[in-house]
Amino acid sequence: MTTGTLALIILGVILVQVAIVMLLIIHRRKREYQELDRSKDASPAVISTPSSLLSKQTAETVASCSSWEGYREFSVQRKEFEDNNKSICSFYLVPLDSKPLPVFNPGQFLTFKLLLEDPVTYESKTIVRCYSLSDAPRSDYYRISIKRVPAPASQPDVPPGLSSSFFHDHIKEGSKILVKAASGHFHLIEEEELLPIVLIGGGIGITPMLSILNTVLERGVKTEVWLYYGIPSSDEHIMKAHLQVLARTHDNFHLHVCYSAPNESDAEGIDYQHNTWVGIPLLRGTLKLMRYQFYVCGPKPMMESLLPGLEGLGVNSNDIYYESFGPATLIKHKKTAPAVSSEQPVNITFTQTAKTILWDPAADSLLEFAEANGIEVESSCRAGNCGSCQTTVKAGEVDYNQEPDADLSPGHCLLCISKPKNDLTLEL
Ligand SMILES: Cc1cc2nc3c(=O)[nH]c(=O)nc-3n(C[C@H](O)[C@H](O)[C@H](O)COP(=O)(O)OP(=O)(O)OC[C@H]3O[C@@H](n4cnc5c(N)ncnc54)[C@H](O)[C@@H]3O)c2cc1C
Repeated sequence: MTTGTLALIILGVILVQVAIVMLLIIHRRKREYQELDRSKDASPAVISTPSSLLSKQTAETVASCSSWEGYREFSVQRKEFEDNNKSICSFYLVPLDSKPLPVFNPGQFLTFKLLLEDPVTYESKTIVRCYSLSDAPRSDYYRISIKRVPAPASQPDVPPGLSSSFFHDHIKEGSKILVKAASGHFHLIEEEELLPIVLIGGGIGITPMLSILNTVLERGVKTEVWLYYGIPSSDEHIMKAHLQVLARTHDNFHLHVCYSAPNESDAEGIDYQHNTWVGIPLLRGTLKLMRYQFYVCGPKPMMESLLPGLEGLGVNSNDIYYESFGPATLIKHKKTAPAVSSEQPVNITFTQTAKTILWDPAADSLLEFAEANGIEVESSCRAGNCGSCQTTVKAGEVDYNQEPDADLSPGHCLLCISKPKNDLTLEL
């Protein structure tokens, strides 16, 4: 045997040993998480907080002003770019009636109705889009932060994102805009005993996290908060100075900015903390072993790796809250909805595409089912609020996962929050 072969064998043995040790560590960690979850009632990680995160003044304002029905007119008080690329712009919105604004749950979104010109047909067109509130609740303004959406790299000839381009190019200070009240089920869960919070935002998915973070820190709640924010580089790093000041001034806030492709001038430890994606290895290496509430919002690939990854670590799915800004067919949410009431096979007929497809009981909604089967559906909020996915029901009935917030015309259903009760024919 040559010295080289011997060296290779020794290296191989060492690598196998390292792999075994790593697997043992992962296995032990997973068991520890599961153990923690079983003993959650006695968890020492639970930190007592006031029963509400609202300040006294805000709570009084809430009591004095309620939400509104339908669309309310706002004007844009201020417009401000948030990143070096000028691809993300914040809009400060004040109500035209000057009445105090109702408080929302941090993490929720506003729904906008926009009248604009279709870039292909040049005809007027109304579209509905949702944007998360990106600041803590205030009685005098709401803030949203919008990322400009270009045409997909693979289809440079299609028009860029309608709403985001309209906001960036045509909505100016003083512009009027129609806004539906805040809604959405993805928001900070306020409990008597608030668990430590882990916020994970990928790209523009940072917006609801900013709202939650600002709320918790401004209210002086002493709960530990971790923010993992993933972006390619400083070019798209939004509210950098604000986040750095928060990290310097709050001992209970732990900032982890991750650049996946930093610029040469980006300095690790100053501009960002980690040269990597936000992923399970990073969380495992930086989070203490305790029970947390995880809030996640980001692009589909990030969600598809993180959500099962967290559960794989032994985190209880009831401690994971997430939101997707776009179609999220492959993302499964364990906490949704009753199953379809009928146990018989149910057929869904889509009239415009002349397709009849057997309903998949694992689908969370008719919207998810339609998308998974290649049926194009106009949608936005995916939470029964904006009404974009309202569809005519030609035959059959649906069950709702939750009460629809959108105004529903007779003979229509909201695909994003419904499932079939029996055979269904949809005008799609
Ligand atoms: C609850 C919720 C909260 C959200 N919060 C935020 C937020 O805080 N900030 C934020 O920036 N966004 C947020 N979004 C996303 C936002 O609502 C919009 O989806 C986003 O701005 C894109 O809308 P758009 O009208 O600009 O693009 P769209 O017009 O919907 O276009 C989307 C993409 O399709 C491409 N496209 C156009 N025509 C074609 C074609 N013929 N073939 C193929 N592709 C085509 C466009 O070029 C573009 O890339 C949120 C979404 C939800 C559901």
